[in-house]
Amino acid sequence: MNERKEPEIAIIGAGPIGCYTAQILAKEGLRTEIFEEHAEIGQPIACTGIVTKAIKELVDIRPEFLVNKLNSAEIFSQNTSIKLRLDEYVIDRYKFDNHLADLAKDNGAILWRKHKFLGFHEKEHNQQQQILVKDLESKKIIQKNPNIIIGADGPNSKVAEIINNNNNKNNLKTKTQFWIGKQGVFQGDFEKDCFQVHLGNICPGFFGWVVPENETTARIGIAIEGNKEKDRNSPIQIFDNFLRKIKKQGHEIEKEICSQAGLIPMFEPNKKLFEKINGRQYYIVGDAATQVKATTGGGLVPGLNCAKKLANSIINKTDYEKEINQENKELKMHLMLRKTLNKFSDKNFDELIKLLDQKRIKKILENNNRDSGIKLITKLAFSEPRLCRYGLKLL
Ligand SMILES: Cc1cc2nc3c(=O)[nH]c(=O)nc-3n(C[C@H](O)[C@H](O)[C@H](O)COP(=O)(O)OP(=O)(O)OC[C@H]3O[C@@H](n4cnc5c(N)ncnc54)[C@H](O)[C@@H]3O)c2cc1C
Repeated sequence: MNERKEPEIAIIGAGPIGCYTAQILAKEGLRTEIFEEHAEIGQPIACTGIVTKAIKELVDIRPEFLVNKLNSAEIFSQNTSIKLRLDEYVIDRYKFDNHLADLAKDNGAILWRKHKFLGFHEKEHNQQQQILVKDLESKKIIQKNPNIIIGADGPNSKVAEIINNNNNKNNLKTKTQFWIGKQGVFQGDFEKDCFQVHLGNICPGFFGWVVPENETTARIGIAIEGNKEKDRNSPIQIFDNFLRKIKKQGHEIEKEICSQAGLIPMFEPNKKLFEKINGRQYYIVGDAATQVKATTGGGLVPGLNCAKKLANSIINKTDYEKEINQENKELKMHLMLRKTLNKFSDKNFDELIKLLDQKRIKKILENNNRDSGIKLITKLAFSEPRLCRYGLKLL
C-alpha cells in the first residue's frame, strides 16, 4: 500500500458517489476514511438503476452488477406514444455500490460502517472544531480531526446543512426541493429490451416508469413533488393509478416482490458546494449537492462526473465549483426543461410526441444521449424550431 499523505480526508456516506470519490483520492495516496451509518453498503435500495452509456467513461460495466441491456424506450402521453432506439443499462444498485466500496478499499481508503456523522463541536480552549461520529454499535461518540470533509451523504445531507447554515450568515441560504419516488419490483409479463416512460397527468410534475430486469420482472415507479404532496394525491394513490394504467395496456402484473421509496433532490443552481469553516474545508457532491438531472431524476452519471472533478480538484488544489462549470450548465438545462414540462397538459404532451415522431428528430434523439443534454437540445431546436416556439409559448 502507498504511504498515506496529508491532507486527511473524511468522506461522509458510502453511497456510489462517496466511494467513487474515495477511490480516486486514496489511489493518489491521500489518507481517506469513509463513514457510513448503515451496517451494509447499498442498503436500503431506492433506485431504478437505469444509466446511459455515458457511465462507461467513469465505471467499467461489470457482468456481476449488470442486470439488463435496453435497446429502446417507449414514451407515452395520454393518447399517443413514440418508440426510440437507444443503448442503456439497468444495474443492480446493491452490487454496484458494493463494487465501488471494494474499489475504494482496494486503493487504501478505510471504510467505517455503522458510523454516523453527527456534526461538529468546538473545543473549549483553542476553538478548533472536532467532527463527531457516533459508533452505532458501541454507542460511543468519536472525535476526528480531518482537514477536509466531503459530504456524499445523500439527499438529507448533514454536511450540506453545515455549509448552508454558514451561508445563512451571508444571507445566501437555499432550500432544497424534492420529489418523492415510489417504486416496486413486480413479477409479470414485460418487453425485456424496452423501458417505458409515461408523461402527463397520470404522474403530475414527473413521470411514471416501467424498467424491465428481464421478461418476467420489472421496476415500476412514479415520483411526485414533495412540497405539493399535501395538495395532491399521495404517492401511493398515484402509484396505484399508474399500475392500473399499465395493467390496462395489457401487461400481466402478478406480484410485487419488493417495494422501495426515496427522495430525489431537485437541482439547485445557487447551492454552495464548498465552504471553509474555521480552517477546515467542507465539500458536497452527488445527491448531497443536488447533482441530479431534473428531467429524469438520474443522479448516478452526473454525481460520478462531479465526484471525479471534486477528487481531482483536491489533488490538484483547484477550485471545485469552477471545475464543474460544464456539469452545472447541463444540470441547469435539465432544470429549465423540467420547469417547462411541468406546464404541459395531457394535450400538450400528445402534441409534443407528435412533433418528436418525425424521422429526422428521432434520429437526433437516438444518436445523442441525455447526459449531453445541451448538445441534444441545440440539435433538436435547429432541426425543429416548432419545439422551441412550443416550449417558449408555455413558459
Ligand atoms: C426511486 C428512485 C429511483 C431512482 N432511479 C435512478 C436511476 O434509474 N438512475 C439514476 O442515475 N439515478 C436514480 N436515482 C437517483 C440515485 O439513486 C441517486 O442520485 C444516487 O443514489 C446518489 O448517490 P449518492 O452516493 O450521492 O447518495 P446515496 O446513494 O443516497 O448515498 C448516501 C449515503 O450516505 C449515508 N449517510 C447519510 N447520512 C449519513 C450520516 N450522517 N453519517 C454517515 N452516513 C450517512 C447513507 O446511508 C448512504 O449510504 C433514483 C432515486 C430514487 C429515489
